[in-house]
Amino acid sequence: MKTNALFIVIAALLLSACNMQSVTGKENIEMSITKESFGTTKDGKQAVLYTLTNANGCVVKMSDYGCIITELHVPDKKGELADVVCGYHSLDKYIENSPYFGAVVGRYGNRIEKGKFTLKGKEYTLATNENNISHLHGGNVGFDKVIWDAEPLETDEGPALKMKYLSKDGEEGYPGNLSVTLVYTLTHDNALKIEYEATTDKTTVLNLTHHSYFNLGGHGSGSILDHKMTINADHYTPVDKDLIPTGEVRPVANSPMDFTTPHTIGERIEKVEGGYDHNYVLNKPEVGALTLAAKVVEPDSGRIMDVYTTEPGIQFYSGNFLDGTITGKDGAVYEKHAAIVLETDHFPNSPNTPHFPSVVLEPGQTYTQVCIYKFSTK
Ligand code: BGC
Repeated sequence: MKTNALFIVIAALLLSACNMQSVTGKENIEMSITKESFGTTKDGKQAVLYTLTNANGCVVKMSDYGCIITELHVPDKKGELADVVCGYHSLDKYIENSPYFGAVVGRYGNRIEKGKFTLKGKEYTLATNENNISHLHGGNVGFDKVIWDAEPLETDEGPALKMKYLSKDGEEGYPGNLSVTLVYTLTHDNALKIEYEATTDKTTVLNLTHHSYFNLGGHGSGSILDHKMTINADHYTPVDKDLIPTGEVRPVANSPMDFTTPHTIGERIEKVEGGYDHNYVLNKPEVGALTLAAKVVEPDSGRIMDVYTTEPGIQFYSGNFLDGTITGKDGAVYEKHAAIVLETDHFPNSPNTPHFPSVVLEPGQTYTQVCIYKFSTK
């Protein structure tokens, strides 16, 4: 009851703070945060689903289970909203089988070769949860599979959720008690902003990211091969057969990897073995600058997504492993290339690749990252 009362107060505060002109010119839409039950985990924990609505009527639904964004509704050129992320309507389905739909990924986004790395002379062994070959996305029970503490927030920018999780020393084999705080804001200019912070009490490695599967035509609308994309990167990191970077930093010029000018995703995908699943080395004026990493345009709806990040890399994954075996929200069948994932982070396997930007976090340091998925139309 106490929590419900708190929510009513917060909703009232949000409403009163929201007497503002909508940026689309549509008025009288009220910013709000509501919550409902999202079911029970296998170990009996209650999961909650929050609904954030901004002053334009854009909606994000997000659970405290894995910080999973289950729905994201943004307008097309006619102002019609569509849900542009793949996922499920029920917690059970996320628990049963989810390729990290909408979740936070940690402690390490993407792969660590053979699940091993050495820090300060000590070797650490992690789960090789990808076919007994590599450590993928944090292991067997990564940050996508735990319940986070959620706190709804009233901010000037829009409704937000502050998420906290304490990952204990040794969890999934990683050293250090790691304290993580994430703030997800649905801004009034139609962006999903994610701010990351983390501290540790022992030297550790960390590489957090967000894993929404986007289809700007709507999550059930078919393939993303007609989406036009630009990536602000002159280089990428080629991979071996297990999708581990070889260590080379290769120019994209004169190859199907080159998105420095807009190309549809489908145009050259056949020339890329397995499809796109690569880390791009972002062009940055200085380390840690918040810059435009990628722009995606869906021609029919006119929806545009601009991705900004402070991170040095972006993993571009073209949904190659989706194969029609997953039926998601509203009966949508997610076939190969039904969505793209654009994960802002450090490079895969950095703990074993000393010349990649460091992912080491020391006690006394604070890990930070800002990532913004900004939606507009043309
Ligand atoms: C990786 C893919 C992986 C997918 C789902 C992406 O981040 O790059 O290789 O299959 O996540 O797990």
